[in-house]
Amino acid sequence: MTHARRRCNLILTLLLLAGFTFTSWFSFHMAHNSLSEGIVDDALPLTSHLISTDLQKQLQAPIYVAQSMAQNHFVHLWLNDSDPSTDQLFVFLDKTRKLFQSQTSFLVNHKTLTYYHYDGRTHRLDLNAQESLWYQQAITSSHRDYILNVDVTPQDNFRAIVYVNHKIVLNGELLGVAGVGIQLSDLRALIKQYQTLYQRKVYFADHQGRLLFYNQSLLPNRTLHSEFGAHQSAIIEQKNYKFSVKHNGVERLINSRYIPELGWYLLVEQEFTTQTKLTDALIANLLLGVVITLCILAIAQLTFNQYQSRLEAIALTDKLCNVLNRQAFEPQLQKHIARARMGRVPLSLLLLDIDHFKQVNDRHGHLAGDRVLKHFAQLCQSVANHSDIICRWGGEEFMILMPNTYLSHAQQLSEKLRERLAACECEVPITISVGIAQYQPQESEDEFLKRADDALYRAKNRGRDRVELAA
Ligand code: GH3
Ligand code: MG
Ligand code: MG
Repeated sequence: MTHARRRCNLILTLLLLAGFTFTSWFSFHMAHNSLSEGIVDDALPLTSHLISTDLQKQLQAPIYVAQSMAQNHFVHLWLNDSDPSTDQLFVFLDKTRKLFQSQTSFLVNHKTLTYYHYDGRTHRLDLNAQESLWYQQAITSSHRDYILNVDVTPQDNFRAIVYVNHKIVLNGELLGVAGVGIQLSDLRALIKQYQTLYQRKVYFADHQGRLLFYNQSLLPNRTLHSEFGAHQSAIIEQKNYKFSVKHNGVERLINSRYIPELGWYLLVEQEFTTQTKLTDALIANLLLGVVITLCILAIAQLTFNQYQSRLEAIALTDKLCNVLNRQAFEPQLQKHIARARMGRVPLSLLLLDIDHFKQVNDRHGHLAGDRVLKHFAQLCQSVANHSDIICRWGGEEFMILMPNTYLSHAQQLSEKLRERLAACECEVPITISVGIAQYQPQESEDEFLKRADDALYRAKNRGRDRVELAA
């Protein structure tokens, strides 16, 4: 393979491979981005919307119950009673609890600061104590008549109980607080369901950044910071926040949303595992690219070869006479001389020149001269043996190299040619002069040619239309 061709192949290969690599890489990134955008912008927000809607739905009933307790006429009467019967109140609280299947129900008399529990227990609230903070918040809440308090009990399997604390106000006077506590029973099941069905993790975090449920396993010390590092502040500051973290080559896409009713942050996470599928597609694309590159290279080689042989044929063949030209003949001559020298096999060379060819041109025109040359070459081809090599040496001179042929046989061929020309009823009758030499061991190519040329010269000098053998 020539240097230029090798370079061309290399450039072609590099271009194709670079093209395939770039397009594969580009589509890989586009697919990667659109998949990850689909998860971050659609799937995760939808999941967190569903979960928070579900939680809000769970909270509607207890809010309604607390509201009806706070507006109950008999509760008002009871609170205004200077010496009320607590038995009736406990019956009311217990019935309310049972009716609405809540975890607990209670009432606080603001005048006495007594807390009445549905099971008959009572205690006095100390407004300065941390435990009574919820009561302070409930009675000072200005934008709503109730507040929600979430209590997660680590001792009780991280049970989440939501207390609805509703103010009891009559004619602008605060009488107390009533409410119920319900268990957010589905939270655990919800987290599990999302984990198994959609391979999505669900977290809840409070304002301090503590994770309340950590992916089913109870790890109370996990925080937003330990899970998501620097994203903690953005999660807490923004109502909706999406981000991704990468750990050990695994990309996790996370959507966080604040649930104001609970005062919790809900985080939904999905691992970006589709990456492996995309990588497979990328590898398949690249392999396909390599295969196509190889196919294109093979086709290019075939086309190159075809063009090269055509070009070689054009370069080595005489266009007019369709025999070898001098350029193609010389290597053949050298090869056969070397073979004759080594193997001591006979090799004969005929130098043929058309007589007075100038006159042919002058009399019949150049085109007729061309036809004569063409016809003469065809005649040589038809008379010569299969192994003989015919060449247009130049102008109206031809050579026939006859491997494995003695001078006498070469002479016979020359005579045959002369006879054919004589017998030919051609457009322009011609005669030829022929000089023949048989290769002599140790003689050079030039000496060999010179002897044939001398023989031809002699044939011309001796009257043309004849064959002369070299000495
Ligand atoms: P001689 O018998 O001594 O060989 O005489 P000649 O006229 O054949 O020899 P000369 O060398 O004087 O003339 C050869 C002519 O061949 C001259 C040139 O115009 C003509 N010739 C050479 N190549 C071509 C060709 O391709 N086509 C044509 N038509 N003529 C050619
Ligand atoms: Mg001549
Ligand atoms: Mg001539």
